[in-house]
Amino acid sequence: MEIAAFLQEQLIERYRISSLILEGYIMKAPARFLHFVVVIALLVPMMLWFSSCQKKEEAKQPGTSATGQKLVTIDNLQRAYGAESKRALWYDRFSRQAMKENLGDIAVLFRALSRSEKVHAEAVAKLLKSKGVEPIAPTIDSIPPGKAKQYLKLSLSNENLEQNMYLADTAKAREENFTEAAEWFRRALEADARHGRLLKKAIELETNFARLPYEMCPECGYIVGSDKLEECPVCKTKKDKFQKI
Ligand SMILES: [Zn+2]
Repeated sequence: MEIAAFLQEQLIERYRISSLILEGYIMKAPARFLHFVVVIALLVPMMLWFSSCQKKEEAKQPGTSATGQKLVTIDNLQRAYGAESKRALWYDRFSRQAMKENLGDIAVLFRALSRSEKVHAEAVAKLLKSKGVEPIAPTIDSIPPGKAKQYLKLSLSNENLEQNMYLADTAKAREENFTEAAEWFRRALEADARHGRLLKKAIELETNFARLPYEMCPECGYIVGSDKLEECPVCKTKKDKFQKI
């Protein structure tokens, strides 16, 4: 009987202890839940902040895709910057040469082309800088010696080459979803096509090349001749913004 009583007492004691533990656990449950909420409330903003920092770090990487790969278009823009800067300088020299030869019409045309290329170079440099890329100044190699009319032919050939390159560059920029670059290449392509037409006309007319009251779109470098345009056919800038050359 004593053993039975002892066992019963032990059982009651154990039940009492278990009850107390369970009771304590239940009683502490709200505190535990609150603790959990506080931890989550602290962790979630920290995780979001960390994630946004990583995204900012990715965005800081200039000229890279979402996966961190370098865009080919950045190199193409750098090459274009070099080519446009170089041509602006060349055309300026060609204009001076034409003046020396008393070929005023050709001199004015080359001056207009130089201004247009300068607009292109400045726009592409701005675009590169906006992507955190410093434009690389081109090395200007010596300008080939020649006469103004020879320069017209050389220039036409260069413009045609440039247009083919910009056509491929536009496609590449679109493929890389680099919309601003695709638009810049499109504008430069159309403005350069206009350069080509003006040069072709000057070559065809030779000595009787008529001087035109050139104007230029300051946004895209499109050269307006005697054609009465209300707006730039390339970028839609209104004619009152056109600059006289
Ligand atoms: Zn324009």
